Amino acid sequence: MSTLLEILSKYWGYKSFKGPQQAIIKTVLQKQNTFVMLPTGAGKSLCYQLPALMMDGICLVISPLIALMEDQVQSLEKKGIKALVLSAKLNRHETIIAFDNLRYGNYKFLYLSPEKLQSPLIQGKIAELELSLVAIDEAHCISQWGHDFRPAYMKVSILNELHPQTPKMALTGSATPQVKQDILDILNLKDVKIFEESVARSNLSIQMLYRENIMGTLLQLLKSCQESSIVYVGTRKDTVHFSNFFKSAGIPATFYHGGLSHDEKTKALNDWLDNRKNVMVATNAFGMGIDKSNVRMILHAHLPNSIENYMQEIGRAGRDGLIADVYLLYNDNIIFESENMLQKSMANPDFCITIYSKLNDFYHIGHGENPETNFIFDLQEFISTYGLPLIKTYTAINHLHQENILFFNQNPNKSSRLRVIEKNSKLFEIQANKKDLGSVLQLLLRNYGGIHDEMITISEVFIARKLNKTRKEVVDLLQTLDKDKVVIYKKKRNHVELKFLVPREDNFVFHSISKNIVSRNKTKLLKSKAMIELVKNDSTCRQFQLLAYFGEKNHSECGICDLCLKRKNIVQTNYQKTAGAILELLKGRNALDANEISIQLGQDRKNVIKTLHLLIERNSIQLNLQHKFELIH
Ligand code: ADP
Ligand code: MG
Repeated sequence: MSTLLEILSKYWGYKSFKGPQQAIIKTVLQKQNTFVMLPTGAGKSLCYQLPALMMDGICLVISPLIALMEDQVQSLEKKGIKALVLSAKLNRHETIIAFDNLRYGNYKFLYLSPEKLQSPLIQGKIAELELSLVAIDEAHCISQWGHDFRPAYMKVSILNELHPQTPKMALTGSATPQVKQDILDILNLKDVKIFEESVARSNLSIQMLYRENIMGTLLQLLKSCQESSIVYVGTRKDTVHFSNFFKSAGIPATFYHGGLSHDEKTKALNDWLDNRKNVMVATNAFGMGIDKSNVRMILHAHLPNSIENYMQEIGRAGRDGLIADVYLLYNDNIIFESENMLQKSMANPDFCITIYSKLNDFYHIGHGENPETNFIFDLQEFISTYGLPLIKTYTAINHLHQENILFFNQNPNKSSRLRVIEKNSKLFEIQANKKDLGSVLQLLLRNYGGIHDEMITISEVFIARKLNKTRKEVVDLLQTLDKDKVVIYKKKRNHVELKFLVPREDNFVFHSISKNIVSRNKTKLLKSKAMIELVKNDSTCRQFQLLAYFGEKNHSECGICDLCLKRKNIVQTNYQKTAGAILELLKGRNALDANEISIQLGQDRKNVIKTLHLLIERNSIQLNLQHKFELIH
């Protein structure tokens, strides 16, 4: 059998494991249950993917987001590993076929949403599979105290009945002690081996600054950095407004929010990733799965809804381990706005049920009825028909979605995407033998570079024009290729869809959802309060406060947050500049003493010495035997 390192290098191309990966993998291979809490970007996926390759059977992965699952499956397929996402759209017959393929087709991974897992058909089929491992990703979704509670996650414990012997693994990026306990209890993880790392990010200088003039401060900070940075704002409108403002001040900026088309998102993201635009102005829709190592600064010009969200957002800075600055700018107005927005968006059970009834009326659904249809939903039209408030209505529909009363597909594909997954020999065969399918394939391969490697945006109209066919004919052909597993084809959907999942019974629905909604609202309020308290509390080191929130109490002070710096009498905004300049100066050079450094930098010696001390505390530099400062590698 190959060694772990051989497999790592063969499939992933990496030379060594990161952090506790190897220890986790060994535990999984011994068929022990595991709980893994490592920060985002630590490489958790590998902890179940690699051992699964070495074990017999299929690894079942439960994950909350279709997009994330599709990404993972694509990257496994690229490595030549067979993996499948069970799409929400399959009917009964297609589901049965998919499971037959799984059983007899050498598949190693099955990705599934917790909602899908509730179907008795799928449970039956899973019981028949030989499973190597069950991995529950983003396991904090299981707890109502978690920041992304999903009721369906609680029922994942059914897997203990279906596969009592199979090792289980729960993975999360962050969990408070209460959430962790919930995960262990609800999943009933026996003899579990726990792997957790401190969520501390000692290279982040966290600064929360009270400023009347937010725009001016942002501008000043961005001008001082001129490296890759993210500015988080509260609304989609603000992303545009702020980025225009920065651009007019000569700062290369772009923006990103959930309402952009796929093409617009890709362009904004690439401009930023390739350093054509230094500054990304974004809502919290930006970030999931983004892995850029050299983000030097993250700015918040609004308050995040929770400390969990805040941690995740600032966690995108300084992935390379070098010092990065994260600033949260606030004033009374921003705190007021944050509380106000929360109140405005909070929907209580009564309001949710009103929305439920109105939605049913909107589509003329009578009591006791449950139509099969996927309705096209226009939120604007709905709220103006009944004179409803926008944000609150949106929240209510989301509650109904989370409670599985209806399915609310909020992420339409604004353009069609396609990837060719079949090997060349089979492609030649199709091109040679099947006239229409062959010509579509040929056109795809000639016109869309990289279509073998990733999902590429395509245009059916363009293809139809080239082939002298109608758009409908092209769509049919692409769907055939998708069904035959030659390509993955995601057709564009311009509209939001809504499907009712239970027969209309207003009273019954009200009773079944009230408790969950009340507790979700309470959690939301508490989390927002904790965030505001963190901002306002200027007596304890910021990093210390953050860690205490996540149950880590034994840390020393960070030494580089605004409060620590203030105590040490260091002018806040100079720190990053001076520290960066010192590290740069020492890079690839012999050691220097404090005098030499302050002369070379043209900076006040006292300030330089204070910064040097901090860098020593941070283990970035050390004093050598000649009493000169040098980098620690
Ligand atoms: P998480 O789920 O913990 O947020 P991911 O599994 O998405 O993290 O991995 C984050 C990134 O780290 C990915 O790009 C992954 O390929 C990379 N990675 C994982 N393990 C290693 C390793 N041993 N060496 C280098 N890169 C790794
Ligand atoms: Mg992950």
